[in-house]
Amino acid sequence: MIYKNIILGSGPAGYTAALYTGRANLHPLMIDGGVGRGQELLGAGGQLMITTEVENYPGFVHGIQGPDLMAIMREQALRFDVEVVEDMATKVDFSEAPYRVWVGDCIYEAETVTIATGASAKWLGLPEELPAHQCGLGGRGVSACATCDGFFFKGQHVAVVGGGDTAMEEAIYLTNHCERVTVIHRRDTLRASKIMQERAFRNPRIDFIWDTQVMRINEVQLNTVTGLTLKNLKTDEISNLEVTGVFIAIGHKPNTELFEGILELDELGYIRTHDDVKTNIPGIFACGDVQDTKYRQAITAAGSGCMAAIQAERYLEEKHSGVNTLAEV
Ligand code: NDP
Repeated sequence: MIYKNIILGSGPAGYTAALYTGRANLHPLMIDGGVGRGQELLGAGGQLMITTEVENYPGFVHGIQGPDLMAIMREQALRFDVEVVEDMATKVDFSEAPYRVWVGDCIYEAETVTIATGASAKWLGLPEELPAHQCGLGGRGVSACATCDGFFFKGQHVAVVGGGDTAMEEAIYLTNHCERVTVIHRRDTLRASKIMQERAFRNPRIDFIWDTQVMRINEVQLNTVTGLTLKNLKTDEISNLEVTGVFIAIGHKPNTELFEGILELDELGYIRTHDDVKTNIPGIFACGDVQDTKYRQAITAAGSGCMAAIQAERYLEEKHSGVNTLAEV
């Protein structure tokens, strides 16, 4: 069997792409990334699975928990004849159509592939960063997204870890909500661009702790963040900082290892797209955070999933003169 469309990934971009191609009778196959081959924190549903309340996704007056939003998106997409493989794609071959995708030893073939494998926030590697169901504080005061979670720390003192543009952007954004934001950086100079540095330095609500590493996030036993155990890397001095939240902002990593040397990637490893969602190979589309260095929001990912689905549909229509049925060989 050759599928009309295979979707890789199951965040807002992947589910929206599946919803649209499913409704277009393309009978898509979604490989949802669900069983953890290699990905420690993420599975089906992507980054929203480790977020708590989402208040900026339109349509939910009182907000919705990230995992609940993903469950609804999945249920909605699966109403429309979407086949799901609950596993990770392990290899692809886009050298000629039909394109091939491996899941272990199984090979799936398709006329078009929609890549929605997302990006993963980088983490420090502390056990407390894990989500609550893995006995950590992820989503309970530990976050990697100020836009998503900053609102919950109104009037409080929080920390941001990192010294790049993301950390500066997160810290500056958080001052809209928080009384005080302490940036903790492992060196004594920032990596961030001069303009972002200046903005952060000028902001009276932001202060800095230099040459310092976070050793521990307290307090897992209390199920909430109460502070950080810090180590000065020059003096080895250990100290405690009382905060109610910590935002890890040490960068994002697009999930593109599978496509290295196959698709055009930018210097940061994101898939390069033109005309919104088209890659350098006809019939291979990319949507959501795997190709978005600018917005990284659930709603923008969902929007680009819709675009990728419509583009896949048009590509197939052109190829088959409007016949949208499942091809079989
Ligand atoms: P960067 O790689 O630029 O910065 C990461 C920061 O995190 C560095 O300061 C690094 O420290 C620190 N870091 C990395 N790993 C660890 C660790 N294990 N423990 C402690 N600290 C760590 O990533 P960004 O996400 O900030 O930026 C990525 C790209 O996106 C950049 O090109 C940036 O310019 C761009 N960007 C632009 C924005 C804008 O223009 N508004 C906004 C956000 C990103 P060290 O410096 O010591 O290496």
